[in-house]
Amino acid sequence: MQGERDDGSRELERAALELSEWLPAGLAPLARVAFNYRWTWLPDGPRLFSDMDERLWSRSACNPRWMIQTVLPSRLRALAEDRSYVQRVTAVAQQIEADLRRPPLVGPVQRERPVAYFCSEFGAHCSLSLYGGGLGVLAGDVLKSASDLALPMVGVGLLFREGYFHQRLGIDGWQFEYWTRTDFELSPVVLVRDATGRPLTVEVVIRGRTVHVQIWRAELGRVPLYLLDTDREDNHPIDRWITARLYIGDRHTRLAQYAVLGVAGARALKAMGIEPGIVHLNEGHAALAAFARIHEHVAAGASPEEALERVRASTVFTTHTPVAAGNEWYPRDEIEPALGSLAKDLEIQPKLFYGLGAFDVDSSSEPVNITVLALRTSRAANAVARRHGEVARPMWQRLWPDRPVDEVPITHVTNGVHTTTWMAPPMQALLDRHLAPDWRERAADPAVWEGVERIPDEELWAVRGEMRRHLVEYARDISVQHRLSRGESPDYVEAANRMFHPEALTIGFARRVAMYKRLYLLTRHLDWGLRLLASEDRPIQIVLAGKAHPQDSEAKEVLKQLFTVRRAPHVGSRIIFLEDYDLHMAPRIVAGVDLWLNVPRPPLEASGTSGMKVVLNGGLNLSVLDGWWHEAYDGESGWAIASRDGDPQAQDEEDATALYDLLEHEAIPLFYERDGAGLPHRWLARVKKSLSRFGPRFSGARMMQDYVARLYGTSAGKAQ
Ligand SMILES: *Cc1c(COP(=O)(O)O)cnc(C)c1O
Repeated sequence: MQGERDDGSRELERAALELSEWLPAGLAPLARVAFNYRWTWLPDGPRLFSDMDERLWSRSACNPRWMIQTVLPSRLRALAEDRSYVQRVTAVAQQIEADLRRPPLVGPVQRERPVAYFCSEFGAHCSLSLYGGGLGVLAGDVLKSASDLALPMVGVGLLFREGYFHQRLGIDGWQFEYWTRTDFELSPVVLVRDATGRPLTVEVVIRGRTVHVQIWRAELGRVPLYLLDTDREDNHPIDRWITARLYIGDRHTRLAQYAVLGVAGARALKAMGIEPGIVHLNEGHAALAAFARIHEHVAAGASPEEALERVRASTVFTTHTPVAAGNEWYPRDEIEPALGSLAKDLEIQPKLFYGLGAFDVDSSSEPVNITVLALRTSRAANAVARRHGEVARPMWQRLWPDRPVDEVPITHVTNGVHTTTWMAPPMQALLDRHLAPDWRERAADPAVWEGVERIPDEELWAVRGEMRRHLVEYARDISVQHRLSRGESPDYVEAANRMFHPEALTIGFARRVAMYKRLYLLTRHLDWGLRLLASEDRPIQIVLAGKAHPQDSEAKEVLKQLFTVRRAPHVGSRIIFLEDYDLHMAPRIVAGVDLWLNVPRPPLEASGTSGMKVVLNGGLNLSVLDGWWHEAYDGESGWAIASRDGDPQAQDEEDATALYDLLEHEAIPLFYERDGAGLPHRWLARVKKSLSRFGPRFSGARMMQDYVARLYGTSAGKAQ
């Protein structure tokens, strides 16, 4: 590595060396493995740690550094005597080393000038709780897919001591939130230090005070993720709180977070000797980076106009929010107390500081919008699905008044999911038996997936059964705990322990509980739903999960309403709500379900990714034609609800009817249509079509190839 730079590589070496002192000689390579999340997407990686001590592993929140320091020395000595375990350790360590040694991708991005990918949240692994939902999980998948592609990239984000909230439901179904602090000293991350051993810091002026920001580094394969942290003793107590929690309600702190992410983020890269060729803003939260970079160019002698042009020429932006209201607006007199001093410190004239974020640059009163700022300071922009592009272009056309809507320079790159993160091990083993040996490396190539059609139905069905059974066991386990801790009645707790059947059609609906996702449609025709639920010969069971934003009381009310039906017949044993949806739970749900429901109000689902994760595990989608499903649905591999525009009440009524109709007359009968051996051949034919067609098309690998071709490699994003 670049040992001379103060970029955290020295600290990684040192931390791995220290960790190796806890290990007997034969297991020493595990210490390096622990400090690079690459192990999480190697077939044998997770098992190396869980085989150490399964119970401890789940208690560790799957944190390998904590695990190594906590497992009994006698257990480690026994493992060091186990030849096959030592060989597995060596093999995984070598696979990681080989991956790091590959030459970088030949293309528009050079190793010396990487893409700097800025995002306010990163959901890379359940042991690194720095994400709230879809945006962060996507960002994690982007970094991993970039690593697989050998695309030079660094991530820039925030280190939240308390992360995102945890969810509990009261006995009445009302959501409570609580936060826990993460001990990053025990996590697989290191604090970046300068040559003298002091933490490397950069400064940013916020609310008139200088805030000192330190930098942590995590490794995702070939891609370092830098995380900014204001929790330092030399900061004012109010400023130490800036990076405490993700998606904090208080708007002042949010603005402060944006200043840290954008301005301190840009400065941190410079302090570490990293000169990005492209700054990629994933959502607008880091848009203030433009001002730090303008300041730098001006300090080097450029005029403010030239400086802005240079910044634009090297910035690209991804928008995720298909409603104007979802893009944050800040009145100028709200920004001034938080960031006015920052503008002065960066010597940016107020006219520019506020004007770039307003539709009318010359307005002196229009509120500032971070998406507008990001669009104005980028050379190219993209939406996250084809349909979202069609929605985003008219939404932002005002910024290009001389262009027809089709020529608004916002293209689209449809989201994808990181294949080997989201496909469960039994499914990967199945593909190992039937696809080319290098299918993982060629995940975006449709030809690789053709072999899926040749998988014998018995084998595919056996794997589906295994994964469904895992989910049933997990759901029972968790549900007993949740019902006990809510103080439910004994019979309802007992029902949890008997609930679910390993062979019943298992339906999933898990995501952020926001109004536009319309979770409430599931209970809109309650009697109809209860009738389907009550069937003894064609049983269904439903897994629900999702958090409502702490300030979103309307969404919390939906959760509470859902709870009122929990004592209806069969509900207690066939519907489960799993509290505290996160990256520990999501892989289990998407692997175990047969059918995924998605009923957002179009066009508010920019893309959605959960359905893609379900595809990879041999489940089918039943979804409103919105987001990714709008471009994926082909009539052969899942089901669609057309959802017409219009009066929301009527739309809800129609869509709920369509949903129940499709369930009752299509999905449920097809799942239970069996041959003499109990195999649902026509269901499995759909599964194979869905997996072979969508597996490559909605892979993270395809997504990153598109980013290279449409955003990184061109000088302007063209609508297409
Ligand atoms: C995939 C995922 C999401 C995003 O779900 P969408 O379908 O895009 O809404 C959110 N949270 C977790 C934990 C996930 O794994």
